[in-house]
Amino acid sequence: MKPAPFAYERARSLDHAIELISGAEDARLLAGGQSLIATLNMRLSRPQLIVDINRVPGLDRITLRDGKVEIGALVRYAQAERSAEIAAHAPLIAKALPFIGHPAIRNRGTIGGSIAFGDPAAELPACFLALNGEAVIAGPSGTRVVKADTFYKGLFESALTPRDVLTAIRVPAATGETRTGFAEFARRHGDYAMAGLAATARAAGKALTDIRLVFFGVGTMPVRARGAEAALANGDVEAAAKALATDLNPPGDVQATSAAKRQLARVLLKRVATELTGTGLGGGS
Ligand SMILES: Cc1cc2nc3c(=O)[nH]c(=O)nc-3n(C[C@H](O)[C@H](O)[C@H](O)COP(=O)(O)OP(=O)(O)OC[C@H]3O[C@@H](n4cnc5c(N)ncnc54)[C@H](O)[C@@H]3O)c2cc1C
Repeated sequence: MKPAPFAYERARSLDHAIELISGAEDARLLAGGQSLIATLNMRLSRPQLIVDINRVPGLDRITLRDGKVEIGALVRYAQAERSAEIAAHAPLIAKALPFIGHPAIRNRGTIGGSIAFGDPAAELPACFLALNGEAVIAGPSGTRVVKADTFYKGLFESALTPRDVLTAIRVPAATGETRTGFAEFARRHGDYAMAGLAATARAAGKALTDIRLVFFGVGTMPVRARGAEAALANGDVEAAAKALATDLNPPGDVQATSAAKRQLARVLLKRVATELTGTGLGGGS
């Protein structure tokens, strides 16, 4: 199929982008286009105006400041994969990036597009929540910062309004005590995951504290498994796996039944627990 007709504008600056989307009845920002173009072609979305932000300056930087890694919204996955800052200071994101789609998608797709789109089966929204990150959002009344814990509201719904531009995300820079774990199951490498888990924790001697376990592909948005987090903080992996029965309520989809997703989640939890305690490699399929 072909998209319904739309007008196209290329934003020269952030202010110009906000002015353009604020002045239109139904506008969409175009970043990497790896999700938007498909939804246009399938006519799942019929905006009147597309505002291309690819040439807005200043949104493609990765910087380390005040103990946080700031990743500009237009940083492409491939750029992040090559970044020494991400490798050293945001290891969870470094682990997740190779699982996103294929090289052609990672060459165009942007970090901001993934966070803004908020596909419940996507890797980065779960990492963003597991890292307790924050979103920097510019809108008609200025800039605001929204914590990851309150950023996602429901299926493809977030704190972003139709007049906002996500300009960057910030995540705490890893320290010597930071532990991260990532694993997912997909039918083929590069497909959206049937279920996945992004996790962070702080090592305190032999114990783990500040555990955040965030599952993806199991709900309408990334899901924190708080019962499993508490059990894992007590060092009880079996109890953590059992707690998923109440933490998660995955709807079945074209990829897997609800029961299969629950079973996958338990397996992922055990893999990631091993990775967090430093006794395994984690990973995915
Ligand atoms: C074959 C295929 C396989 C894929 N597999 C995966 C996968 O395994 N995992 C995964 O996570 N993703 C996957 N993707 C999707 C890919 O990661 C997209 O790049 C991502 O979802 C959106 O990023 P984008 O930069 O392409 O955004 P776009 O497609 O340009 O935009 C997506 C949406 O976000 C909005 N948006 C974009 N940037 C901003 C911003 N800065 N502020 C506010 N709103 C914004 C747009 O208006 C649009 O509504 C796949 C895509 C394809 C085509």
